[in-house]
Amino acid sequence: MARVTLLGTKGGPAIYPTENLRLPTSCLLEMAGRSIVVDCGLGVTRGIVNAGHSLKSLNTIVITHLHSDHYLELGPLLHTAWTAGLQTPVTIWGPKGLDVYWQAFLASMAFDIELRIDDEGRVDLASLVTINALEEGETMLGDLSMRSILNCHPPIEESYALRFSDGEKSIVLSGDTAPFERFKEFVRGADVLVHEAMMSEGVERLAARIGNGARLKEHLFASHTDALDVGKLAKDCQVPVLALNHLVPVDDPLITEETWAETVRSSGFDGDLYVGRDGQVIEF
Ligand SMILES: [Zn+2]
Ligand SMILES: [Zn+2]
Repeated sequence: MARVTLLGTKGGPAIYPTENLRLPTSCLLEMAGRSIVVDCGLGVTRGIVNAGHSLKSLNTIVITHLHSDHYLELGPLLHTAWTAGLQTPVTIWGPKGLDVYWQAFLASMAFDIELRIDDEGRVDLASLVTINALEEGETMLGDLSMRSILNCHPPIEESYALRFSDGEKSIVLSGDTAPFERFKEFVRGADVLVHEAMMSEGVERLAARIGNGARLKEHLFASHTDALDVGKLAKDCQVPVLALNHLVPVDDPLITEETWAETVRSSGFDGDLYVGRDGQVIEF
């Protein structure tokens, strides 16, 4: 049995007071006896603990791209895991530049880290963490295959979608992406598709509401996927289970979970559908 827990299902870094708060992007994948954290948006640490997982056993993290809603809390997650007793290596996969963030995080916390090494006898946090460059292709994580493909997320050039397979089951995580042709082959045959989703009508209203609306709207339409197109992709690729993730917008009272579901269903997709909520568990 494999399992994915959607820890944070909001697209974009900003959060506002709202009734059903969703936090930025992160999820926890459990497959082939391994636990893998994919993306580390704000709230990932709390999300992992809320899902009942010990931070001490953290060992594999993948960051899909360097937008802050996907890695802002990577440093705090590792540091908190370390204070919770982490003593074993953590391997991180991510785009070029992630190591710069990590070194700067360590430098920013040097006083505290050195203090805890001396005062509490902890191992050096820096020595536990290895950062590997994510590239297109296949990487084996023990028995688990991780395939990565560059997706379409301008202006960022290095942004990935991921496919994990244990030989029996497979799951695709879209990352942040606009539709792109090569993706269909990548998704086909997957048991679960976790895909980012945007509601275009809501984006129009969102743009009208905020300061830099026109620029934001331009970015969103060029680099994300409308919920209807997510449904079409899942239908074309005959994916039995679809979960919407990285929802944009999440705070428009006119867009409910029913609205998301109806939009996806209007594509003709008739498999199992989840409108992602923080903490939602999908077994496959
Ligand atoms: Zn994002
Ligand atoms: Zn992004």
